[in-house]
Amino acid sequence: MVDESGEWDWCRISPWLPKETLEKIATMLPPWQGTGSYWCQIWRLSVPQCVRVFIWLVFHRRLLTNAERGRRNLVDSDRCSVCNTGTESIEHALRLCPQVRQVWEAMIASDKLSVFDSLPFDTWLLQCFNSIAGIGVDNVIWSTQFAMTCWLIWKAHCTIVFDGAGLYGVGLARYGRILAAEFADTHACRTGGKPHYS
Ligand SMILES: [Zn+2]
Repeated sequence: MVDESGEWDWCRISPWLPKETLEKIATMLPPWQGTGSYWCQIWRLSVPQCVRVFIWLVFHRRLLTNAERGRRNLVDSDRCSVCNTGTESIEHALRLCPQVRQVWEAMIASDKLSVFDSLPFDTWLLQCFNSIAGIGVDNVIWSTQFAMTCWLIWKAHCTIVFDGAGLYGVGLARYGRILAAEFADTHACRTGGKPHYS
């Protein structure tokens, strides 16, 4: 049903199904074909459940970006709703958008930015969950801060799309750090451990 890239394999599907059914299939994302290793890493993240679900959606390409809306013929333009300078893929919304770049530059040690920029998207996510050594500038658990910041970036993106304004830049980076620190401290109290942050 799906090809090696994870997309619907139309050459195999088309000869067997009526046009109406094919049109319905085209509105749906193909089933995810990956292994369970992603889920294990997501499950181990020390983040609120809503953030964990969000990261799961990212890995499974289940966020409704303009690129996806365009693929389903729901919009005329697949450009980013925030910067209007690139196709609004999930990677663009979370990593490449110039507005998002300001957030990451506020969080990443300058000598680690080239590594941060060079990785393919899925590897980028997994490497960040595994805390690339010394990548962050704050004294926090990096994987928690990274996942929560991705979630905040998407919330800011949706807020801009629907309300016309949203928090980005250094302010969002700082907010992600605060949320990550609060969650880690609360979690440490519940489990009887030491707070992660000072
Ligand atoms: Zn953009």
